[in-house]
Amino acid sequence: MQKNYDCLVLGAGIVGLATALKIQERGRSVLLVDKGEAGAATSYGNAGIIERSSIFPHAFPQQLGEILSVIGNKRLDVRFHWNALMSAAPFLYRYWRASSPERHLETAKAALPLIENCMAEHMLLVEAAGAQHLIRQTGWLKFTRNPEKMEKYLKDLETVKPYGVKAEVVDAKGFALKEPHITAPVVGAVHYTDPANVTDPQELSRAYLRLFEQRGGVFVKGDARSMDPSGDGWRVDTVQGAVTGREIVLALGPWSAEIAGTLGYHVPLGIKRGYHRHYRPVGNAVLNHTLYDADYSYCAAPMLKGVRITTGAEFAFRDGPPTPDQMNEIEPLARSTFPLGEAVEADPWMGSRPCTPDMLPVIGRGSKHKGLWFAFGHSHHGLTHAAVTGRLVAEMMSGEKTFCDPTPYRIERF
Ligand SMILES: Cc1cc2nc3c(=O)[nH]c(=O)nc-3n(C[C@H](O)[C@H](O)[C@H](O)COP(=O)(O)OP(=O)(O)OC[C@H]3O[C@@H](n4cnc5c(N)ncnc54)[C@H](O)[C@@H]3O)c2cc1C
Repeated sequence: MQKNYDCLVLGAGIVGLATALKIQERGRSVLLVDKGEAGAATSYGNAGIIERSSIFPHAFPQQLGEILSVIGNKRLDVRFHWNALMSAAPFLYRYWRASSPERHLETAKAALPLIENCMAEHMLLVEAAGAQHLIRQTGWLKFTRNPEKMEKYLKDLETVKPYGVKAEVVDAKGFALKEPHITAPVVGAVHYTDPANVTDPQELSRAYLRLFEQRGGVFVKGDARSMDPSGDGWRVDTVQGAVTGREIVLALGPWSAEIAGTLGYHVPLGIKRGYHRHYRPVGNAVLNHTLYDADYSYCAAPMLKGVRITTGAEFAFRDGPPTPDQMNEIEPLARSTFPLGEAVEADPWMGSRPCTPDMLPVIGRGSKHKGLWFAFGHSHHGLTHAAVTGRLVAEMMSGEKTFCDPTPYRIERF
């Protein structure tokens, strides 16, 4: 194996893979390093939505009543471990402040170029990787059984329409036509039609890896903790020995902050754990779209392995033992909504969303080191933002005009 590269990319999640591909497209030699398999960590378990319609990122509640209901620790959308709260407190305080209506709007505007380009950039990679069979262009529907909630969702829709979001308002009859096997008394839904759905997120990562290797890229197991500035570049130890690169990209998802911290970059990265489990549909029941059940706060996504039910957020230590209470409480509710049969896996999968307190990813160069780049902190939207993040890093690295102003994503903001 060659030992010297133009660029080392650490982390073969969907963000690292897309970044490696976009750098490689600029004619550079790239080595991708991960401690495990490609796409096997957080990128394995998401709801598979390339979320063109998510203009406003998930904010911290602002109303006292809502904050108190979170503290009750019984909500389906968010749970926390008391023992993790102390260490998460500085993150949560910053997150709460950044979620004020004014700052939330600023954040949405700062993230808009990433959202606007997320589909086009992914589709370039999907086509090049021959992975079209993993993509459904069916959008997703947010549905409710509650007429008052439906009124609110219609208002929410009006706030995102100016940002180019396309959607169809669906009444009970229309919903039944789209999803004939849903048994819940749905009053209506908003069908966001632009987003795409990945039917097996890890397979997409594997397809991106195959493309990377076909184009001459090398993937090797190694530990990012061994990274070291060396000469005028960087050195990392891999199972095939030490390798060097002129540039290095940290794309380590929820592990990024601790590695960046060893180099003197301190990012208050929060962790929102999430769970999923697949279920076989009963008989000939079919789910045609990815659904968000707004009453019970879960996603149901038709995937190759079955119907994937995903949960909301759990604030807990990243490496603490799984506590799939949300999953366990959601399961009977999901069963009462769609005829789910037996679970495919013995236990729910768990992963950790890497979250910045201002809800924007960290994309850009490290100011204290030559040739150091960051691509992490994509929270609820790492699949969505992966390709567009890769493009931005690659453009900055090769000195091209960037497709958007990268200033809001720089690491120095912390
Ligand atoms: C339940 C759930 C649902 C979600 N739904 C969606 C969705 O529908 N749409 C969406 O856009 N996003 C969604 N997300 C978020 C999305 O999955 C993440 O933002 C995204 O996967 C992060 O990708 P990543 O490449 O940054 O991190 P990861 O996929 O975690 O990759 C990081 C890589 O770094 C490697 N690594 C770590 N430490 C080391 C080390 N020391 N040495 C070498 N390698 C190391 C890991 O092995 C891993 O492969 C969801 C998340 C969850 C949990």
